[in-house]
Amino acid sequence: MNYPETSPESARLYERAKVVMPGGNTRTTVYFDPFPIYAVRGEGCRMWDADGHVYIDCINNFTSMIHGYAAPSINAVVSAQLALGTAFGAPTSSEIDLAELLVARLPAVDQVRFTNSGTEAVMMAIKAARAFTGRPKIAKIEGAYHGSYDYAEVSLDSRPDNWSKTPASIAYAKGTPQGVLDDVLVLPLNDIATAQAVIAEHGPQLAAILIDPLPNRAGLIPARRDYLAALSKAARAAGVLLIFDEVISFRLGYSGAQGLWEIAPDLTVLGKIIGGGFPVGAVGGRADLMSVFDPTRGKPALPHGGTFSANPVTMRAGLASMQALTPAVFERLDRIGETVRQGINASFARHGLAGVCVGLGSLFRVHFTDQPVTDYRSVYPNAEARRKLGKFHIALLNRGILAAGYGLFALSTPMTDSDVTEIIKAIDEALAEVAA
Ligand code: PMP
Repeated sequence: MNYPETSPESARLYERAKVVMPGGNTRTTVYFDPFPIYAVRGEGCRMWDADGHVYIDCINNFTSMIHGYAAPSINAVVSAQLALGTAFGAPTSSEIDLAELLVARLPAVDQVRFTNSGTEAVMMAIKAARAFTGRPKIAKIEGAYHGSYDYAEVSLDSRPDNWSKTPASIAYAKGTPQGVLDDVLVLPLNDIATAQAVIAEHGPQLAAILIDPLPNRAGLIPARRDYLAALSKAARAAGVLLIFDEVISFRLGYSGAQGLWEIAPDLTVLGKIIGGGFPVGAVGGRADLMSVFDPTRGKPALPHGGTFSANPVTMRAGLASMQALTPAVFERLDRIGETVRQGINASFARHGLAGVCVGLGSLFRVHFTDQPVTDYRSVYPNAEARRKLGKFHIALLNRGILAAGYGLFALSTPMTDSDVTEIIKAIDEALAEVAA
């Protein structure tokens, strides 16, 4: 394959798309220049495109398809549910089954509410924190992505020209109201002193701290355990809730990142893998906090609907997906993840290329830098790093590997040891091309 020349059908589809969608696009993350490749089908860890090319899929719909495509155990429950109806104006037992599984796996979660996306679940967690505490502000980590609720996307892409020592609140989207920026405080990852200072100054106004323990867009650099412990302690003392966004990090282990880090957040946001390939989100937490949603005593403190929330297709697929994720399966994902990370770091050394592969479990990211990677600012790509990332992405595509354009990879359970070897080899060749 030699993209874009060998992708004429994707090019044709993109021409059609451009007429009816802005920039031919309905999802910013899947666009790349000059046009994205169009998917036709997937099976196991492979995806076929409109021109007949086949790829080992290392992005898995941005980490959600942990069992790859067309997993027979998931397809079976989905087909059975299709025959029974896909969504009702009434609850079904399927939502109880999935909620029971999540509550059993997460000691900090007594109760759960389902949504249709991670964005919505983050929004409901923030609103729940405000409703419970009666406070208006939240704090979040610089560069961390939490979906597209205005408050959650503040300082997602702050730039060197607007960096100050304590990060300022920078609008992500044009048109973000000043009131939103005023109600969001921004923290550098793993900086205990700044977190304590912000909590000390704004505590009485602060409803919650929102944190992803392995923030992907901020570099996939893990939050340190001592940082999270200090954050949790300072928050608790000030009556500030700790919200863990585990939309991605729940794929790190049987009890998610909070199980690995041994931290009990007040609220947890889930998404992606808990939907078994269908749109989903969830917010869970302690029963006293979750009572803000309770409609049994009149209008709840926080009313929450959602036409397709907890639809039985998603719930059944999600349950099958989660049941297949046993401790042994997580162990294998950890093992193959570590093998790939080591392989990539060896490739960097072999090709004399400045860079590093970071991550945990089945997740990894590649950064083209010779500096220590500690947080969002440390991996902020300069023009040269951007050029290398772009070249790397296309070099991978041409070798039959799908990854995110910004260097994120996610492994899946159907990958065999020989698939893993193939991935390491293709990445090695792509890095050699970048080094050349
Ligand atoms: N939080 C995190 C950490 C995410 O990575 C994402 C999506 N990639 C979201 C929230 C939003 O989820 P969704 O795309 O389902 O709205």
